[in-house]
Amino acid sequence: ENQKQLLETQSAEVEESKMEIEKYAEQLEESSRYKSEFLANMSHELRTPLNSMLILAQFLSDNSNGTLTEDELDYAKHIHSSGTDLMILISDILDISKVEAGKLSMQIAPALLVETMESLERDFRPVADKKKLQFHVQTQADLPETIQTDPMRLQQILKNFLSNAMKFTEQGSVTLNLREAHSHELEIYALSAETQPYLAFDVIDTGIGIKASEQGAVFNAFEQADSGIERKYGGTGLGLSISKELARLLGGMIYLVSKEGEGSTFTLLLPVDSNVAIARQEDAEAR
Ligand code: ADP
Repeated sequence: ENQKQLLETQSAEVEESKMEIEKYAEQLEESSRYKSEFLANMSHELRTPLNSMLILAQFLSDNSNGTLTEDELDYAKHIHSSGTDLMILISDILDISKVEAGKLSMQIAPALLVETMESLERDFRPVADKKKLQFHVQTQADLPETIQTDPMRLQQILKNFLSNAMKFTEQGSVTLNLREAHSHELEIYALSAETQPYLAFDVIDTGIGIKASEQGAVFNAFEQADSGIERKYGGTGLGLSISKELARLLGGMIYLVSKEGEGSTFTLLLPVDSNVAIARQEDAEAR
């Protein structure tokens, strides 16, 4: 009789703790939602004034009536480049909060491949020159002229790869290479070229490389291979985790091959039509 009573009180206690846990889980979910909403709103509010500052700093840097001294011109350029860094950071925080809330949506449209490669070359040639790195941009012949993807997001991923490659390379070269994806690499990552071909964008550098033990973690938000107080390189560790999610939302993926002290290659595999790949993903998930 005693034992029965004991069991009953125990199971009542278990029931009570279960309810407590459920309550906490709900509260946690709610505050996580608040956090994402707050970040999204804040980022938006921060971007608007920063945008006007950037436009004005650009206007000053142009020095179109030639009235600025060399020092003043230097300051204006500095304001513009620091403002641009800040804008990227704010956009990254906005993207991460959207990823967490499952609210990142792609705007699929035709992207011209030649133009995409040329605009990346224009943007990064000065960075390479400044660090005295060789910069090669190459595109395999007879690829399609356009692909269906999110053109801005494609640029964002490749800019992330290229700015990392330039940042973590002190000498040698950075190469941006566009080619058709090989069937063996698609197989490894469970992508199927049966319905449509895939392209591969490689960014290859001769930089510091990434230790095997840290190669998985670099794709996690806020994770940096070079962490701790003696950090040499700036950054937030957000870029690659966003890029990875963007690639997935476009029906593709990203992988990394790297050797410490020798260099890294980041590869983006992308279907020629993201709509087809997304429909396939949804099909597979429904089954
Ligand atoms: P961030 O560059 O802002 O730190 P990322 O998410 O773009 O953030 O990169 C995460 C980390 O991955 C970097 O801090 C660096 O440790 C490592 N990494 C990325 N690209 C390279 C590269 N090309 N060479 C060496 N390390 C890299």
